[in-house]
Order: sequence, then structure tokens, then C-alpha cells
Amino acid sequence: MATVGILGLGLIGGSLGLDLTRLGHRVLGVSQRGSTCALACERGAVSIASTNWQLLKQAEVVFSCVPLDRVLASVVRLGTILTPGTVITDVASVKDPIVAQATQQWPWFVGGHPMAGTAEQGMGAALHHLFRQRPYVLTPLANTNRQALSQVETLIRPLEARVLYCDPVAHDQAVALISHGPVFISAALLQTVTQVPLELKKLTQQLASSGFRDTSRVGGGNPELGLLMAQHNQKAVLAVLAQYQQQLTQLQQAIEQSDWTWVEHYLKTSQGARPDFVRELE
Ligand code: NAP
Repeated sequence: MATVGILGLGLIGGSLGLDLTRLGHRVLGVSQRGSTCALACERGAVSIASTNWQLLKQAEVVFSCVPLDRVLASVVRLGTILTPGTVITDVASVKDPIVAQATQQWPWFVGGHPMAGTAEQGMGAALHHLFRQRPYVLTPLANTNRQALSQVETLIRPLEARVLYCDPVAHDQAVALISHGPVFISAALLQTVTQVPLELKKLTQQLASSGFRDTSRVGGGNPELGLLMAQHNQKAVLAVLAQYQQQLTQLQQAIEQSDWTWVEHYLKTSQGARPDFVRELE
């Protein structure tokens, strides 16, 4: 069993703490607020918690679970505290802007991203088994320390996650397609529906049911997270929005021209593609 540090006891850090503690590891938690540390202890997500980063000195592996825009700064600061050889890994949802720089700062850095979450934030929202059956992507570079990579993998495999490896740029393109892009597409749908005359808006709201609940869910999520996705994965998000716009233009033209054969083929192809694409999620 290992001594594991978790920096940032929020939804992801707290959930990792719950599972790693259950698996018998000694978990040292560090967070910004004392109240979060107290809650993490109370919920059994950590063996001990503090707002003092020095606590992490004893860890063999540290998971940086702070917000995306603070990960690099956290690696720099951890580098002034940890003993050389201690592994740092992160969980941020964008990898390319982080992994190479973090590895330069700390040669025992391993990029990671558990593809699991909820709409909630903070230690109170942390869940047992959050990572079970979900992909957990590791994004090593050619110069990533192999021993560090293997230590991270050994810790995350028992979470019952599906461990995958990929290049950071490919990771960012893929998450832009299935996660970051859809946030903006769904937000645009919400804006479309709510920016109509008041009478129509009221009626629309009364008629909206489970379909609209599904299509609007990710667009109505935490704006801070969406903004971080656009800022830190700008190129890949723009590429998805451009491709999506092309699809919409094609659809618009076909409907304008009453080209129902084309529209039917388009919808049949979409219907056929979905079961295979989302098979692992059901
Ligand atoms: P969260 O619930 O808001 O948790 C972040 C935690 O970081 C907060 O609880 C905060 O602690 C702590 N924190 C912030 N700045 C800190 C600092 N300077 N020092 C120490 N602790 C600090 O966010 P989250 O959803 O867990 O996201 C954390 C990371 O996971 C992000 O990098 C995100 O990209 C990644 N991620 C998120 C999801 C998701 O669905 N949410 C999925 C996969 C990966 P206090 O409470 O003490 O202020």
C-alpha cells in the first residue's frame, strides 16, 4: 500500500480520496480551505488533511486535482516541497498545454484525465466508485519517466477504471469532439430556445420534456468549467464548432431544397452510428 497525496479536495480529488482510502492506501489531503479539509476527514476521504502543502512531503505519488488553470502553478510549487523521484500526476480535462511544461518542471510528472464527473463541485459532491467502468486516460510523452507512469497505473487500475493511453494533442481533439464542443453546441441551443418572444417562450417551456432536458443538460452546466475548456482547448474546440457549422449548413440547404431523400439518409446514418458509438456507455 502506498502513501498518496491529493491536492485539491473537490469532486475529483475527494472521489479519488474515498476510493484510495477504501483500497487501504494512506491518503494525505491538502486543500485551500480548512472547512474542506474537515469535511474530507469526516467523510473518510483522507487519513489526514491540512491547508499546509508541507503535508505532501511524505507522499510517494501526488494527484493534483486543482482547477485546470492552476495545475501548472501547483506542479511548480510542489516541486519546491517534494523529494526528487516523487511522482506528480494531474486529472485536468485538457492535456496539451500542461503535460510538456509540467514534465519540464518535474521529470516525474505523468499527465492523466479520468473521464468521470457530475454536474456538482466540491468535497460534498465526491462519490465512491466514481471512476468505475469509466475511461482513465494517461498521456505520457516520449520522455515521461516509465517508473512514474507505472506507479500511477498501479494506483488507478484498482479503481476499476478503463485505463487508456494517448498522446496529449489527440486527447484534446477527442475531448473537444465528445465533451467540450457539445457544451457550446448545447449552450447555443439553450440561447436559441430562450431568445424568442415571451409568449412563445412560455409555451415552449410548458411543452419541453425529457428530450430537451437531455439536449440542454451540458449547455446549462457550470460556466466556469466551460470557459476553461474554451480558453485551454481553444484550437480543438474551434475545429469542432467549424465542423458542426458545416453539418448545420448542409442540413439547412437540404431542408430548404426539400431534399427529403438526403435528409432521410442523413438521419438514418445518424441513427445507425449511435448504438455502436455509445455502446460502452449504456
Ligand atoms: P472542484 O470540485 O471545484 O474541486 C477543486 C478543488 O480544488 C476545490 O475543492 C478547491 O478546494 C481546490 N483548490 C483550488 N485551488 C487550490 C489551491 N490553490 N490549493 C489547494 N486546493 C485548491 O473541481 P473538480 O471538478 O474536482 O475539478 C478538479 C480538476 O479535475 C480540474 O483540473 C478538472 O479539469 C478535472 N476534472 C473535472 C471533471 C468534472 O467533471 N468535474 C472530470 C474530470 C476531470 P477548497 O474547497 O479547499 O477551496
